[in-house]
Amino acid sequence: SLRFPTDLEIVRDAALEPLTSVAERMGLPPELLEPYGDHVAKIRLSALTDLAERPRARYVVVTAVTPTPLGEGKTTITVGLGDGLNRIGHRTSIALRQPSMGPVFGIKGGAAGGGYSQVVPMERLNLHLTGDIHAVGAAHNLLAALLDNHLYRDNALEIDPHDISWRRVLDVNDRSLRSVITGLGRRADGVPRQTGFDITAASEVMALLSLSSSARDMRARLGRIIVAGSRAGKPVTAEQIGGAGAMAAILREAIKPNLLQTLEHTPVLVHTGPFGNIATGNSSVIADLIGLRCGDFLVTEAGFGADMGAERFFNIKCRVSGEAPDAAVVVATVRALKAHSGRHAVAAGRPLPDGMLQESPEDVRAGAANLVKQIENCRLHGVSPVVAVNAFPTDHASELEEVRRIAAEAGARSAVCTNVADGGRGAEDLARAVAEAAGEPSAYAPLYPEDASIRDKVETVARSVYGADGAEFSEAAERQVRACERNGLGRLPVCIAKTHLSLSADPSLRGAPTGWTLPVREARPAAGAGYVYLICGTMQTMPGLGSSPAAYSIDLDDDGEITGLS
Ligand code: ADP
Ligand code: MG
Repeated sequence: SLRFPTDLEIVRDAALEPLTSVAERMGLPPELLEPYGDHVAKIRLSALTDLAERPRARYVVVTAVTPTPLGEGKTTITVGLGDGLNRIGHRTSIALRQPSMGPVFGIKGGAAGGGYSQVVPMERLNLHLTGDIHAVGAAHNLLAALLDNHLYRDNALEIDPHDISWRRVLDVNDRSLRSVITGLGRRADGVPRQTGFDITAASEVMALLSLSSSARDMRARLGRIIVAGSRAGKPVTAEQIGGAGAMAAILREAIKPNLLQTLEHTPVLVHTGPFGNIATGNSSVIADLIGLRCGDFLVTEAGFGADMGAERFFNIKCRVSGEAPDAAVVVATVRALKAHSGRHAVAAGRPLPDGMLQESPEDVRAGAANLVKQIENCRLHGVSPVVAVNAFPTDHASELEEVRRIAAEAGARSAVCTNVADGGRGAEDLARAVAEAAGEPSAYAPLYPEDASIRDKVETVARSVYGADGAEFSEAAERQVRACERNGLGRLPVCIAKTHLSLSADPSLRGAPTGWTLPVREARPAAGAGYVYLICGTMQTMPGLGSSPAAYSIDLDDDGEITGLS
């Protein structure tokens, strides 16, 4: 049989459309584009006001069951659905995050979709694009440098050197940078202190950029970032350090969304890349505000399962943007439901266990609880769920049917998708189901009111979304929550950092675990991004590399073409 071509082989044969034509179909005139080479452009922020009177598109968020470490295909389905909607006559754009190079060279490889559902040019998308992530790093690290200079000079703000929360960032998976000592050497080399690096996708500047609704809003948010506590226990901000203005200047281009296209020429807005487990895991508000004025539908992806990215989409992103979603797509796979049966062990970086490839609708059924809960998690926010069954070549028809049956029993529309193999044609059934669901009136509402206490907000998410009996705060977390409320941050939404590999806080628990309590270890203010960040379990903010990183197979050939990226 013929070998299925690799992602790179597929994109190499692709004929890209001039970006001006892609933009024209969105109703974006060429004056609103700033070209970065042939097939990438930035969109000027004046689009926000220029397009404001246009009719609003239907807003669709793509989420998933709790994924295996392999990913269940949210990006491929997002791309396929965008292409599929266009094929059945709805003018559709897509909004995605920019992939971080840490995971590209680590475990995940590229994040431009796969097969015939890819965003192109995929090499540029996966590597640097227009430099936005580096700009976020530069802005973040400038603030760190100003903070250390403040300590070195006369520390007029009386910063407590033991209470500095602002670290440094780089876009790389590098465990050796997790804990470092800066300022070693002579007196003139700075004040020695222990600190560390996070990956840029974990920077509060990245989250803040993704949640800004204008340049002015971004500038104000930068000023509100809390970098340290003073000896008197008062928060010290980026504005006080004198860094916020220069940071905004560094981010002048990064705040503009990037325009690319799918292999079928559907417009793709790529903008910002906050991490999914410890940050919001959603692309930018600005890209969505523009995309929502560019046609009939805007489809966007939220990271990880519906308890993670979609919960933050509903309770943080939509609260900020004021835009209500019209439908939610829950991506489910045979392999994920089999993994949720608890009968198979799936591990990152390893092939699927043989037993999982055997035809077994019974194993799929045994993992149903997770899908049912993630469907409910969309409904909790008043949004109609549609299950996208992402078909892999190793799936059996009986198993795909079983996923659809589980969806139907939960009262959700569903469709089997073959878009990775077939392109947008393979997602037309899904497109029809989504158009139907989005045509019903939206009953979207955030899960909790602004004026609930931080503790109640966390309890509400833990009980209703995660299926926990409640939340248990450590003494430190309780103290930190009180400090947040004292400092006027009590009305902010919560961003709960927990494992993405389980609905619970324990990555080894499959299905939809009950009879457990969410352990809240720490609470930190992200006053610039605009949420309170709760740490539940051990969270890695700087990933490491595995024993066989994706970097080993990536190269540049004699023609200057990248090889091994998938
Ligand atoms: P997510 O966005 O949920 O993390 P991706 O869309 O990035 O998932 O897909 C994860 C991986 O699985 C990618 O390498 C992608 O190419 C591959 N993949 C997704 N769907 C399919 C499919 N139907 N058949 C084969 N490979 C797929
Ligand atoms: Mg993805």
